Amino acid sequence: MQFEIVDHPRPRSAEEIQNILADPGFGTNFTDHTAVVDWTEQDGWHNARVEPYGPIALDPAASVLHYAQEVFEGMKAYLHNDGSIYTFRPEANAARMNKSARRMALPELDEQVFIESLEKLVTADKAWVPGGEGEALYLRPFMFATEAFLGVRSAKEVSYRVIASPAGNYFGGELKPVRIWVSRDYVRAAPGGTGVAKTGGNYAGSLVAQQQAVDKGCQQVLFLDPLHENAIEELGGMNVFLVTNDGRLLTPELTGTILEGITRSSVIQLAKDRGLVVEERRITLDEWDTGVRSGEITEAFACGTAAVITPIGELVDGEHIIASTGTGEVTQAIREELLGIQTGTVEDRHGWLHRLT
Ligand SMILES: *Cc1c(COP(=O)(O)O)cnc(C)c1O
Repeated sequence: MQFEIVDHPRPRSAEEIQNILADPGFGTNFTDHTAVVDWTEQDGWHNARVEPYGPIALDPAASVLHYAQEVFEGMKAYLHNDGSIYTFRPEANAARMNKSARRMALPELDEQVFIESLEKLVTADKAWVPGGEGEALYLRPFMFATEAFLGVRSAKEVSYRVIASPAGNYFGGELKPVRIWVSRDYVRAAPGGTGVAKTGGNYAGSLVAQQQAVDKGCQQVLFLDPLHENAIEELGGMNVFLVTNDGRLLTPELTGTILEGITRSSVIQLAKDRGLVVEERRITLDEWDTGVRSGEITEAFACGTAAVITPIGELVDGEHIIASTGTGEVTQAIREELLGIQTGTVEDRHGWLHRLT
């Protein structure tokens, strides 16, 4: 598939871009271009292009607006010292988007086209990739039902797009442990549901819990397993790990309700490389709490593309603070190694990097 490149008639000047990159924030500024590929039941994927960024004309009956038939991905482009730009394990994102698409009855996109869409967009907007520590160009591929039809069935017209947004440190500044609210009123996913798919509806359903968390002075929500009492699953958009004092790394197993993070699988690999024993299994809040009290659990962290690895400080369960750890050595070491690989300062021994331009 050939991407047609339609340059922005009035792209931001070098100075405007520099002003934005001086304090990029997260998800508020967008580059000059967007990559697009259209799909219809009749013609399949076609009309691949990079075009000026701007509002989308959508029929008010477009089914995504009513039935939320959509999936998305999140990844980053990193500027290396030699000026080249890389992304991290894009084949994994391509495969996961297709897995999400299958669950949401959307068409699969060829993995090569997915990767090419990133290459073309980042090539058009390479001036937008920030180079400061912890900074990157956040890439957001997404696919949604555009067909104007209110009947309930999978759409016959779909659009795939990629937008890009320069990103600073997700939780802002230094590596500060976050406070996490344990959601008792809401669940994120249930067996057979859409928890394994990266789809907007999961996030929509988590927002009220997130609001509760903020009201309680927490930054994020920990969701529990709806079937097994007190078993932990994940945060709204990050996977969770615990570190023990005898060299084990614990994380909830993938049961079909947890989103399989690419950061999660990379952390597992890097931990094994370091000789840690990785246990993917059911973990309860009680185990976390007693483990922290007895000194067996020494560190807790959450991970995902946006924030990379963030130490978990306190877990707030109603009136109780049930576990409290600081930023540990293992958390810090794995974080540094992962960031080093992504930014080109640590050897990429697993072949995770993909050059975009
Ligand atoms: C995207 C996401 C993650 C993290 O996945 P990464 O590939 O590591 O960015 C974790 N949980 C949920 C619910 C997510 O949507």
